[in-house]
Amino acid sequence: MKKTKIVASISDLNCGEEFIRKLYDSGMNVVRINSAHQSFDGAMKIVKAVRSVSSGIALMMDTKGPEIRTGIFSEPFIVESGQMVEMSGNCEADVSTCIPVTHSDFARDVPIGSTVLIDDGEIELLAIEVSGDILFCKVIHGGAIKGRKGVNIPNVHIGLPSLSARDLKYIDFAVKNDFDFIAHSFVRSRDDVEAVQEVLDKLESSIKIIAKIENHNGVKNIEEILDVAYGVMVARGDLAIEIPFEKVPGIQKMLINKCIKRRKPVIIATQMLHSMITNPRPTRAEVNDVAGAIYDQADAIMLSGETAVGAYPVEAVKTMAAIAGEVEKNKEDINDIPIVVINNDISAFLIKSAVEGAVELNAQAVIADTTSGRTIRSLSAYRGKCPILAQCYSRETVRHLALSYGVSARFMEPEIVTHEFVGKALDLLKKDNILQLTDMVVVVGGNFGRSKGVSFVEIGSVENLITAEK
Ligand code: PEP
Repeated sequence: MKKTKIVASISDLNCGEEFIRKLYDSGMNVVRINSAHQSFDGAMKIVKAVRSVSSGIALMMDTKGPEIRTGIFSEPFIVESGQMVEMSGNCEADVSTCIPVTHSDFARDVPIGSTVLIDDGEIELLAIEVSGDILFCKVIHGGAIKGRKGVNIPNVHIGLPSLSARDLKYIDFAVKNDFDFIAHSFVRSRDDVEAVQEVLDKLESSIKIIAKIENHNGVKNIEEILDVAYGVMVARGDLAIEIPFEKVPGIQKMLINKCIKRRKPVIIATQMLHSMITNPRPTRAEVNDVAGAIYDQADAIMLSGETAVGAYPVEAVKTMAAIAGEVEKNKEDINDIPIVVINNDISAFLIKSAVEGAVELNAQAVIADTTSGRTIRSLSAYRGKCPILAQCYSRETVRHLALSYGVSARFMEPEIVTHEFVGKALDLLKKDNILQLTDMVVVVGGNFGRSKGVSFVEIGSVENLITAEK
């Protein structure tokens, strides 16, 4: 079993049931829909195809968040180095001379002397002067400025609200269609996560929030963001524009380490196999990048254009799965991190002991039951070499665990007596041929009732543990 999870971005251009099934069979765990590029009808098509393939595939809706883009215009502005251009967030601006942008206070928010980057940093401008709501910029690197392209102003706090009207509609859509994750773009502080949480709470939704870290403030405020977010996406596309690109590898490692310490899932995203959008084989550097993220201990790795619009989407998922399988064989048996108390100290101690015991005794699996997934995420943080078989009392939790390293989650009807789960879970796992009677397993459970944490670790062969339960 591959332990690193794969998130694949899907568009309605290619979302047939057969296609989704091939991606799933190749190792995809989560489908991401980017609301920036998707209509509701298109998103609905994707949801239906995904749900018809498996109820175990998690669905993630990616919002636009507080981002700025160029407005809508038909002919690109061709700009040359050294010339002056005008930019404005005033929708009445004359688009024959002035580049429209989607933030009304653009001229006020961008300080003179700031760098303005457009279209993944392809075009570079320098803010020179403001007059009313027009910002005059000098072109540093020219090119063709097209409509709907990303606009980044590194190191500048933009006063946009956490959620746009469009985001609210897409969150509502995600709630109505049972999505599992909202990946919120351009998270700057805990306030941005809390704004999404407030909307979800009003809609009585249990969707989990993944904070996309893609600017300086997101990196700086990571601790408070982790206080309120379920997990993190290292969104390297915008991050490498907002922050000097040479700093991104170090930031990636730092964010992964912080997430592991806080027991929060972490996804590494963007351009992991970018050349596979047009080529059937990855570059050597891409293979190393994917492997590096797994050696760094990420929970999940993500494909964007490779699966959304690429010519080799199935090959891209297979490539990631093959690299993951190989790297996981060569990793340390356990991530030697300190115990961190998430709910109670007995649970924290027993969880670490269970993973250590599984390594020492060469066990086949660690098995635990869960309502919210918290125990399982704590087990997963140790990145132990044997799989964690999570027996979940909620179908939502099964899908939330689709982002956690080394976890294979299944739904189990809730038991009345908590301890009975051992016999029942082992019976089911044996019946489904996931475990054999002679397999050595480590079972983690709690005798003091749901949500009270772990109170025992039992180790033995499947046969002995089943017999002891009867
Ligand atoms: C990114 O910027 O790396 C990212 C994942 O976000 P998006 O695909 O929405 O640009």
